[in-house]
Amino acid sequence: MISVFGHLNPDTDAITAALVYARLLNRQGEAATAYRLGELNFETAFVLHEAGVDAPELLPDLPARSVVALVDHNESAQSAPNLAELDVRYVVDHHKLGDLMTAKPPYLRFEPVGCTGTILNKLWREAGLPLEATDARLLLSAILSDTLEFRSPTTTQADRDAAAFLAPIAGIGDVSAYAMQMFAAKSDLGDTPAERLLKMDYKVFSFGAQTWGLGVIETTNPAYVFGRQAELIAAMQAEKATSNLGGIVLSVVDILNESNRMLIPSAAEAQVVQAAFGAQTQGQVADLGDKISRKQQIVPALEKHFS
Ligand code: MN
Ligand code: MN
Repeated sequence: MISVFGHLNPDTDAITAALVYARLLNRQGEAATAYRLGELNFETAFVLHEAGVDAPELLPDLPARSVVALVDHNESAQSAPNLAELDVRYVVDHHKLGDLMTAKPPYLRFEPVGCTGTILNKLWREAGLPLEATDARLLLSAILSDTLEFRSPTTTQADRDAAAFLAPIAGIGDVSAYAMQMFAAKSDLGDTPAERLLKMDYKVFSFGAQTWGLGVIETTNPAYVFGRQAELIAAMQAEKATSNLGGIVLSVVDILNESNRMLIPSAAEAQVVQAAFGAQTQGQVADLGDKISRKQQIVPALEKHFS
């Protein structure tokens, strides 16, 4: 049995990629089950509900040497806690290659595109298998989510082509209206505790000797997030101390205006973001302008800064 899962603090791509890749492996005669490594965010819950699909189960403690397939990530810091003991046999991803180690020759499919869903669409087509409407909907949703409906600088022509191919199969006539519904669901944060808001889309990266926590909140309503700034800063300070981080930041990305205002808890982070991005800071907020992609703009600049 192959356990298929995306990264910790899963997003829509991590969840839908696990579901759709497990289904592809099944169709190709491999026994595979999709899992998740955390709670669904509100956007993903909306997507699964609209598609009439149950969320995958939480990944159980896998015994050593269990066969796994990683989707939408490859770095151990973003994966199952005992990844080093597991037998990574497949990886389908669109992130930079990190510290991946395998016991046996793996199947690897990496492409520098905006979404794992774009790669999975290709894999289904290469396998000569027809996508069901539900799977097409899941992949399209992931593409819209990861590319912020093609606004993110990570968007490629392959993502646009995949979305155009998938929309009619999914039965979604007005893609923009559907994307707005997804973003509204994602932005409807209600009284979610600040600790959970911080961790909803949160990844840990090592830059030389330092470990940083990089959170993102993508929203159509940044005013709501800044209304909770004090709580969020407190949650960030607590996480920084608990996890012994060199720094922690939280990007508040305005989806519709394509801008990023980043929360920074202390002078240490302010100094780094000023140096790494030339960003202006005011109190505990740094203006990152149109640098809205953690993968393509934030992480590379921090890597360069710390190297
Ligand atoms: Mn992801
Ligand atoms: Mn992704």
